[in-house]
Amino acid sequence: MSKYVTEPDARGHFGPYGGMYVPETLMFPLQELADVYKSASRDPTFKRELNHYLKEYVGRPTPLYHAKRLSHEVGGKVYLKREDLCHTGAHKINNCMGQVLLAKRMEKRRVIAETGAGQHGVATATVAAMFGIECVVYMGKVDMERQALNVFRMESLGTKVVPVTAGQQTLKEAISEAMRDWVTHVQKTHYVLGSALGAHPYPLIVRNFQSIIGHETRKQILRLENRLPTHLVACVGGGSNAIGLFHPFLSDRKVKMIGVEAGGKGIQKGQHAARFAGGRVGILQGTKTFILQDREGQIEETHSVSAGLDYAAVSPEHSLLRDMGRTQYTYVTDRDAIHACDALGQWEGILPALESAHAIAYVIKQSGMWGKKDIIIINVSGRGDKDVQQIVGWKKKNRKQEKRI
Ligand SMILES: *Cc1c(COP(=O)(O)O)cnc(C)c1O
Repeated sequence: MSKYVTEPDARGHFGPYGGMYVPETLMFPLQELADVYKSASRDPTFKRELNHYLKEYVGRPTPLYHAKRLSHEVGGKVYLKREDLCHTGAHKINNCMGQVLLAKRMEKRRVIAETGAGQHGVATATVAAMFGIECVVYMGKVDMERQALNVFRMESLGTKVVPVTAGQQTLKEAISEAMRDWVTHVQKTHYVLGSALGAHPYPLIVRNFQSIIGHETRKQILRLENRLPTHLVACVGGGSNAIGLFHPFLSDRKVKMIGVEAGGKGIQKGQHAARFAGGRVGILQGTKTFILQDREGQIEETHSVSAGLDYAAVSPEHSLLRDMGRTQYTYVTDRDAIHACDALGQWEGILPALESAHAIAYVIKQSGMWGKKDIIIINVSGRGDKDVQQIVGWKKKNRKQEKRI
């Protein structure tokens, strides 16, 4: 196997990153989860059941669409992997489906989750409803106000949404609160973590459940073009949609991979969420990885117009792949992302999530740099309906500067 196909050791280390930096009380449920996952991943019945629900309920496989007008504008051949067409409108449900099936296997009748933008909360609430499992979602109070539509969706699905009022009142605090709940109710509860983050085995489990994106893409592009893509591009919040697309291509040395982080208002303290541009190695919420923190190790505030990219840490596997030089990371600003939303809407009739728009913005910004033979695949991780208010708000606030451009 290629040295680039990263696998964690038994304690979840991806090289110097990852691990299980948690209180003793969490070691037992994490180990239990690791064991159950191991047996499930070898069990053909589990795989069959997961595939059944991914096909019949989530709507997989999602299309790989040749975006002709976008291709014409940027100068390479661009394909869009349409994760926005998954049930509930984003890739998050791939992981939720897998994890709720694991919860069932452990005979846990209650699931909890954290959510930032609300997409992971909605996906967890959806799958829990479908299986008749109790669901509680922790969400920062600020995020609840920013994403009122998703709060309404979760409540309509029968989920209890608990507002978190500590700190910045966003995703980081919601994760801490969910972990607290888990420690208290560990007997009957499974914690459905939403990205390739946190303590082992989560980065491994989430990556594997999301790798369906890359496995499908590989088959689809070989059928369409009879060769592999030259570039894969995905936005990186926690890193799950990106690693899901990248992982099945890691041993294909010629396929370049670019992760796009949130540059927010620019790379100044507190104004962005580009961990690889402004971060250092540290430990946050169970894992060692690149983190936005000050000299004393205090976690810095983060900012992005897209709530799904607004987090201080990144998947440990991305940190390792970057060290190895296998993947590259860049960032785009709020403004570029919003312009990319408009562009994809007007050129292709597709309104992407603001998160996904970061990946699209990168490809647009590189216009003229792409070669005629380049095949670029962008992961459209989600659809944009949830962001309409954010975009209108941003445009109102920035009207003066926008006119000057
Ligand atoms: C949550 C979310 C992201 C960011 O999470 P990753 O784990 O980095 O994929 C990106 N896009 C959408 C649409 C999301 O909902």
